[in-house]
Amino acid sequence: MLIEAVLGDITTQDVDVIVNAANSSLLGGGGVDGAIHAAAGPGLLAACHELRATTLPDGLPVGDAVVTPGFDLTARWVIHTVGPNRHRGETDPVLLSSCFARPLELAVGLDAASIAFPAVSAGVYGWAVEDVARIAVGTVRVWQEGTEAGWTPGHPRPHGIEVVRFVLFSQNALDAFRSELDRA
Ligand code: ADP
Repeated sequence: MLIEAVLGDITTQDVDVIVNAANSSLLGGGGVDGAIHAAAGPGLLAACHELRATTLPDGLPVGDAVVTPGFDLTARWVIHTVGPNRHRGETDPVLLSSCFARPLELAVGLDAASIAFPAVSAGVYGWAVEDVARIAVGTVRVWQEGTEAGWTPGHPRPHGIEVVRFVLFSQNALDAFRSELDRA
């Protein structure tokens, strides 16, 4: 499984799944959420309204994740997660770690081979991008080690994920993620 970091716009990634840094309401926001809704078209907002009317009447809890189709995106699926908001005192790294682990688990259930993440909580939600990078890269590595523990090549693979891509919107964010990836 390749873990990589690139500079770019997550909405144009040619991957099976893109992850959205949504808010609990699922009903629209700025930043990467606004960009994903604009690129996916109105079907995405309708799907989010449907989730709110059915399984998530109180919204999506911080650290949790939920799947919708990708509609007009190249990506087949969007996995919406809600990062912790430092401005509301949400400083527990476990909550942010969950924003990377839960989408990976859901992506395995979708038989996805590739998934792209933004720097969840590094924008409006106020986390330092260096902290997000350390938690994101660490979580993906721990998830991979845990999932692949005991697996020997030649036997069925425990998951089909071949690429985990962090898509960063600034050079500063890219540098933070690259420096974590360069750590052994
Ligand atoms: P949060 O509310 O979780 O902090 P934001 O959307 O405000 O989410 O920011 C998360 C990160 O996503 C920020 O680093 C921001 O620069 C970045 N970002 C914004 N638009 C895009 C995009 N189109 N593709 C990738 N990353 C983006």
